Amino acid sequence: MPSTADDWARDLCRYVDASPSPFHAVDESARRLEDAGFAAISPDDDRPTPGKWYLRSGGALVAWVDADRSADAPLRVIGAHTDSPNLRLKPLPDHGALGLRQVGVEVYGSALLNSWLDRDLGVSGRLVVRDGDGRVEHLVRDDRPVARIPQLAIHLDRDVNDKGLVLNPQTHLSPIVGSGKVESGAFVATLAAMADVDPTDVLAFDAMYHDVVPSCLSGPDNEFVSAPRLDDLLSCHAGTEALIAVAGQGSGPDAGQAVPVLALFDHEEVGSVSATGAAGPILKRTLRQFVNFDGRRSDGSLVLSVDGAHGTHPNFREHHDDEHQVLLNGGPVLKFNAKERYATDAPGAAEVRHLAEQAGVPLQSFVSRSDMPCGTTIGPATASGTGMRTVDLGVAQLAMHSAREFCGSKDPAMLGRLLEAALAG
Ligand code: ZN
Repeated sequence: MPSTADDWARDLCRYVDASPSPFHAVDESARRLEDAGFAAISPDDDRPTPGKWYLRSGGALVAWVDADRSADAPLRVIGAHTDSPNLRLKPLPDHGALGLRQVGVEVYGSALLNSWLDRDLGVSGRLVVRDGDGRVEHLVRDDRPVARIPQLAIHLDRDVNDKGLVLNPQTHLSPIVGSGKVESGAFVATLAAMADVDPTDVLAFDAMYHDVVPSCLSGPDNEFVSAPRLDDLLSCHAGTEALIAVAGQGSGPDAGQAVPVLALFDHEEVGSVSATGAAGPILKRTLRQFVNFDGRRSDGSLVLSVDGAHGTHPNFREHHDDEHQVLLNGGPVLKFNAKERYATDAPGAAEVRHLAEQAGVPLQSFVSRSDMPCGTTIGPATASGTGMRTVDLGVAQLAMHSAREFCGSKDPAMLGRLLEAALAG
């Protein structure tokens, strides 16, 4: 576990840069867990002996430690999501005009579309490739600036600064990916080259664009983190590192009192309703199959749904509730909403405040303005799916859902300490 807040933030940057897609995020968490002695298990395996295990499925991962815990020890679950808003390739993407080759994209999630303009873009994803009579999956990525969506010059759109930029996702967002004649199959051929396979063997792909500029600490005193996908890779990173820390805390009387669980879900940005989303069965099914879910004490069990929180923006303070200002580097943020867009209730908030006091971590509180709708996260889906007490919290950030987001550099380590205390039970 990184020792200082800056080390933690730099490790977060490495995690984010290793994870241009949800599949890569799962791969990076799995790699770190394996390095810490966790072993992979598949849904078709029998129940293993207690130990350190993880199960992965596409963009989702569930990991737990049940060695040296009693069969009814409560569950402590950290949930986060691996997906972020971005631009995703259409199945037949190749088109173009005027001597330029372009590709068709769909908008994934509630992306700030303007943030994808004038930005050097790399591409990543997974391919499913014919392999004899079977099929194999390849993760691929190209971090070179292979695509770009140039903005229209202001001389051709004089009102844009006064009236705002309106972008049609079908007609205005096709990245330019090269020059010359358009050839159908060209995009698949580039993916096939990344995986070193024959293009005719590529049966299908899930591919998406990402900002190629590496994540970094920013500000004169490294006060901030500038990175893509902080929502919600910041929480995936903290959850992974907290689980590894708790798993390393010895056995016997030194082991935690609870069974710590990490649940990384896909598809939060499009509503969580999928086989690998928080509204799907993956968490509860895995806990039932391998972790004796129904025999666990509910007293002491807790889910922390960890996702980005809105810091109060200094240029747009009127968009925030005056009494609930949220500061960068002010500590993790408990999220409240009376309409259950967040799952936090008073006993859950009290439990997290108790844990934060023990860990020496300050907490903040977020609630939306009453005249503005509130976003949501995996908390309500996890609470209704498992019946477990769930608390929504996360690290404050600005520019949420931009291709490049911004947060304090001290908060991620504070979140890590809090999650470690929660997992220990
Ligand atoms: Zn999120």
